[in-house]
Amino acid sequence: MGAMGDFDVAILGAGPGGCTLAALLAQRGMRVLVFDDEKRPDLLVGESLLPPVIDLLRRFDLEERTKGFSTFKPGVAFMHRGGLRLDFFFPENALGDTPSYAYNVPRREFDAMLRERAEELGATFVKRRAEVEVGDEEAEVRLTRSCLDATPELGGRHPRLLVDATGRSRLFARTLDIPARRGERNDVAYFAHFEDFDAEESKPGQVVLSILEHGWSWRIPLPGRLSVGVVVDGEVAKGHGRTPEERLESLIDAEPILASAGKGRRRVTEVMAYSNYQLISDRGHGPGWLSMGDAFGFVDPMLSPGLFMAMHMADLLDREVFAKGVIEDPERFDRAASRVEEEVREWHAAWGDIIEFFYDGRMYSLYEGGSKLRESAPKWAPAAMMERYLSRWITRIVSGVDTRSRYGRGLVRFTARHLMHDVEPPEFYAVRGASDDAA
Ligand SMILES: Cc1cc2nc3c(=O)[nH]c(=O)nc-3n(C[C@H](O)[C@H](O)[C@H](O)COP(=O)(O)OP(=O)(O)OC[C@H]3O[C@@H](n4cnc5c(N)ncnc54)[C@H](O)[C@@H]3O)c2cc1C
Repeated sequence: MGAMGDFDVAILGAGPGGCTLAALLAQRGMRVLVFDDEKRPDLLVGESLLPPVIDLLRRFDLEERTKGFSTFKPGVAFMHRGGLRLDFFFPENALGDTPSYAYNVPRREFDAMLRERAEELGATFVKRRAEVEVGDEEAEVRLTRSCLDATPELGGRHPRLLVDATGRSRLFARTLDIPARRGERNDVAYFAHFEDFDAEESKPGQVVLSILEHGWSWRIPLPGRLSVGVVVDGEVAKGHGRTPEERLESLIDAEPILASAGKGRRRVTEVMAYSNYQLISDRGHGPGWLSMGDAFGFVDPMLSPGLFMAMHMADLLDREVFAKGVIEDPERFDRAASRVEEEVREWHAAWGDIIEFFYDGRMYSLYEGGSKLRESAPKWAPAAMMERYLSRWITRIVSGVDTRSRYGRGLVRFTARHLMHDVEPPEFYAVRGASDDAA
């Protein structure tokens, strides 16, 4: 242990991204201080994990603990308002060493567990909302004097590096006026937990996503309750009442798929609302600082990539920046952080690509074509083998295992362009926005 105030790194924000990085750095023997504003509401989105997150949890011996408060997730189903249903189960051995399952987690317990593990490994947490200001050439952003003074653990000395893990607050980007690229969708999500709401899973724990008359919805089975979220264009939401409660209940009642599944529902939490769907900062590091997780950027949540991206970025930073001991050397630090940023931008682009297949309907047309092949061709006919090969690739891409694979994405794109005969056109399956009604 070094002297008080001798912190290598201060992480601002104790969400999954910040806590994962804190645990990795503490494991590496670095002195880490985490500012935790403890402003977590009881209800938080980000309840459905992807299989590669389990790889990370295992590295911290946390799978058993996760299992204790979570629901086993064997895969995902996509239900379309027209009646088509796609069931994806993470297949044994298709994901390499990554497990063929994940978990649905109540965020409060999940975040608390990650924080506790980081503390067990030696990270120091302080209950304080961090404040920063514009710095100088050596440290572009710094903790304010009053924040330093209010944090006796720092002993008056500024940490060598600050990490922005403040999620959608994007503290450093806002302080430094760093622009961001936003997605085109103008969606808003309303969600709450329910009892007596039918999840319509094919296997217990399966997450069910539905393409509705307007927008889409999630149903995430959690222990004893179901998380239900409805995502619609902001203009559509305005027609469903004034408060988030009115809007969520009215949207559920207005959508045939949800209305029948939720006939006897009982809401057991308040309703939370989220807007802003895609965003990536133009810059994620500079002299003396880094940003990570949602604070750097976030993708549309339809395929649940958020927690995986935040935790994976922590892992990348740990391997590329901290393992190489470059934080004292500005040029090497810049090169290492740029490499991580580039990789994360590639991830965002790849998620954007595949998510678009679900929004614009191509994935459903493709599946309809595949189902017809399965039914008509003998099991070992080349067309049926091709269909199985393609399904395997789609699973690898949507599970986060091979999302960036150029080959896999090319294969899906090629098949969607050339092999969809005698099926409903993608427009039939597409997610509708407000402008589709106006047209
Ligand atoms: C509608 C919707 C549905 C989603 N569904 C899923 C899903 O099913 N699965 C999934 O994996 N992801 C999902 N996500 C995304 C997921 O919630 C985020 O990607 C994830 O929480 C990002 O983690 P993070 O650690 O970067 O940030 P956060 O989880 O936001 O954590 C940031 C923390 O920093 C704290 N903080 C902020 N400012 C300060 C400050 N100044 N000082 C100290 N602390 C501060 C905050 O209080 C918070 O605790 C969804 C997102 C949306 C919008």
